[in-house]
Amino acid sequence: MSLTITQNSPAWKDARPVDANYVYDFDEPSEGGRALLGGKGIGLAEMTQMGVPVPAGFTITTDACRAFMRDGDLPAGLAEQVDEHVRRLEAKTGKSFGSTEDPLLVSVRSGAAISMPGMMDTILNLGMNDAAAEGLAARTGNPRFAYDSYRRLIQMFGETADGIDGHAFESALTALKKQRGVQLDTELTADDLRELIGTYKEIYRREIGSDFPTDAREQLLRSVRAVFRSWETPRAQVYRRAHDIADDLGTAVNVMQMVFGNKGDRSGTGVAFTRDPSTGASGVVGEYLANAQGEDVVAGIRTPQPLDAMREAMPDAYRQFIETAERLEAHYRDMQDVEFTVEDDKLYLLQTRAAKRTAAAALRAAVAMVDEGLITKEEAIRRIDPSQLDQLLHPMIDPKAKLEVAAKGLNASPGAASGGIVFDADSAVERSKNGPVVLVRWETTPDDIHGMIAAEGILTVHGGMTSHAAVVARGMGKPCVAGCEGLELRDGTATIGGTTLREGDVITIDGGTGTVYIGEVPLVPPQLNDDFETILGWADEARRLTVRTNADTPEDAARAREFGAQGIGLTRTEHMFFGEERLPVVQQMILAEDEAGRRAALDRLLPFQQSDFEGIFEAMAGLPVTIRLLDPPLHEFLPAEDQATDERMRQRIRSLHEANPMLGTRGCRLGLMYPEIYEMQIRAIARAARAVHERTGAAPLVEVMHPLVAFQEELKRLRALTEHVWAEEAPDVAHLVGTMIELPRAAMRADEIAEYADFFSFGTNDLTQTALGFSRDDAEGKFLTKYLQDGILQRNPFETLDASGVGDLMRIAVERGRSVKDGIKLGICGEHGGDPQSIAFCEEIGLDYVSCSPFRVPLARLAAAQAALAKAGTGEYVAAGG
Ligand code: ADP
Ligand code: MG
Ligand code: MG
Repeated sequence: MSLTITQNSPAWKDARPVDANYVYDFDEPSEGGRALLGGKGIGLAEMTQMGVPVPAGFTITTDACRAFMRDGDLPAGLAEQVDEHVRRLEAKTGKSFGSTEDPLLVSVRSGAAISMPGMMDTILNLGMNDAAAEGLAARTGNPRFAYDSYRRLIQMFGETADGIDGHAFESALTALKKQRGVQLDTELTADDLRELIGTYKEIYRREIGSDFPTDAREQLLRSVRAVFRSWETPRAQVYRRAHDIADDLGTAVNVMQMVFGNKGDRSGTGVAFTRDPSTGASGVVGEYLANAQGEDVVAGIRTPQPLDAMREAMPDAYRQFIETAERLEAHYRDMQDVEFTVEDDKLYLLQTRAAKRTAAAALRAAVAMVDEGLITKEEAIRRIDPSQLDQLLHPMIDPKAKLEVAAKGLNASPGAASGGIVFDADSAVERSKNGPVVLVRWETTPDDIHGMIAAEGILTVHGGMTSHAAVVARGMGKPCVAGCEGLELRDGTATIGGTTLREGDVITIDGGTGTVYIGEVPLVPPQLNDDFETILGWADEARRLTVRTNADTPEDAARAREFGAQGIGLTRTEHMFFGEERLPVVQQMILAEDEAGRRAALDRLLPFQQSDFEGIFEAMAGLPVTIRLLDPPLHEFLPAEDQATDERMRQRIRSLHEANPMLGTRGCRLGLMYPEIYEMQIRAIARAARAVHERTGAAPLVEVMHPLVAFQEELKRLRALTEHVWAEEAPDVAHLVGTMIELPRAAMRADEIAEYADFFSFGTNDLTQTALGFSRDDAEGKFLTKYLQDGILQRNPFETLDASGVGDLMRIAVERGRSVKDGIKLGICGEHGGDPQSIAFCEEIGLDYVSCSPFRVPLARLAAAQAALAKAGTGEYVAAGG
């Protein structure tokens, strides 16, 4: 993103040397961009430089935050730089900070490089004290407004800078409203508010043991420290971990002149999106509150009105706002989420950033923007977060189901979720260990974040489309129904339409329609919509990698084909041994005394396997299908020792027992110990291929895959076996023979192995286990969880490929394999084949295909396109603002 700097401000010329400079005015050039100024800061600077009306102010850089985290206090010189910039702000505004007659009031706002909505703290109306409130009251002739601003400062400062529990202030406010017999804050008079200020100051004194600070400079510097400290709060850390945000980014601090939406009926504040963040439909949508300050909308204290209300109340400001919002979208070439305030009919923009949106909205908006000529197809592809597509690929409520609606709220974030209800975040975490939960709250706050992560869906009684619950849920791709006023929460129960529910009772929510149902509701598989197809079509043109699927059944294969799979990268044959009629035969085979006994049993298994393969081959006619021969150790098919029916069986079970089955007699070792097993499987595959070929004229391209090869000699022998059987059964049907690369030795000796392989398929689940020496079952949930928590590892290597370790083995295997056989086919069939970052790595090392579970195929198509475009350097996208 390039910054156009207007260098006409005389002040910046005598700025300090860059290394010591921690503070920049909004209209002052800086080199550091978003990383230095934070998303909010860069947005404010850019808007200022575009000539959009923004209150004047300055940004304290993330460098200062990092210094603060390192030294535990503000870096040397920072306080003086802040003083200097306050002086410039005074000069610009003609008001003076700390004055009691015409006070300059400012806000202190956090803003990291990556948007963390609601995670960090903001303090408004700094510079207020008793005398300043009187001065402002006299000057504006609006004492109500002056006292309202002051009481807000005491509360926000008390909460944020000094950690006072906000409830103390809230209950004082509620008590006063009750006493006066009013519903809304706005109905309190100036005198009421003056009284409230007295109460607030007492609360402050009681909690902190000293008086509320009246000195403006002290208020400001303490607030800056508080924002820096808020970077390290547990809730901010949890959010960063959930969103993969580095801990050392730090936050910037923005100090800006206050503009007042709480001055009366010609004033107000709002939040809007340049397109609908739920559906992506064109046109500005938003919410507006008359006579209020910014945090009222976000905090859901009063339920805001749609923007139309503003159009009626103040048509000029409304029109100017719509124009500005459209200008911002055109400038950033992306959907924006903006905050604004109107003070006495004059509009100010306070923030702009790339809007968080649902997957459906992301697709709709991207397609529309290509149609409008705003962005290219490549940009459209690169802007969609592939992991977000999951939302559209998950079950929805069956539209044909006859359902009784229990309550209606706002359709805050789409998707359906069923689960036992929980009323707080900690219970959500606890109960989610035993099954899905839906978090039900009056309103969520940033402190609920861990519960929101644990829950399948979120239901709130209060708050609008831009409430915390709605924004965060959309970001996480979780279903959310907000503002469900028909729901009553009392003493650990929820009452909906006469039914009282307790913790654990099941409800279903549909965040796409805002509907709540009692009990579990039938869900149906998702449908790909037109926008989805359009974007994926563009992705298919842009990608180089082929996308296959891992499928063990004809149903999975057919579904994956609908999602665009171009073949099967892994069919596991072992599940075919578990069928009700088959397992006894399999056990008979394993228990047999000798080869003849085993062959007799295998002969009975062959037709089962053959018919399974026929089903899959028919579903994949014309496409490649990789079939892996039996991989797990044999004892997995036997009952536990104490269930043996006789002594012989007991002995056999005991003799097959292994201390480390993962590293034991499995994979091709099994095939070499008992060649008749692989022989039967190869025969079944060949017969199936031939039968399908004869029946339909279109056989798939069969790839017979030998698992867990470490040595050339293993594959050499197994290849000979494969060719021998194939020649007997289907000499005219094409096929390939290859191996998985899932042991470090195989990767290192890929050149030798390639002599006998037509293809390699990286089995990165096992390769990760064997390269790291981690047994997945023993790692996840145990030491690996701790490693991730403590930052020893940044990512779970079973989810995202360990590119530098396991990835290097792959790189070596690719290089050495190709050095012997130029055209050797290379793919990946581990779970990493469906992970966007790992797919990018596969593109980088030049694999031919990735293979993943059917539901991840669309995501992989998109991720593969993004990887290809990234490699080519086309369509790069950096989100705006923050
Ligand atoms: P968040 O990142 O949580 O949205 P913000 O820093 O954006 O926090 O501020 C919270 C609210 O206060 C917003 O609604 C914002 O518009 C409002 N606000 C911040 N600074 C000012 C200001 N100088 N004048 C008026 N309102 C402000
Ligand atoms: Mg904001
Ligand atoms: Mg394996």
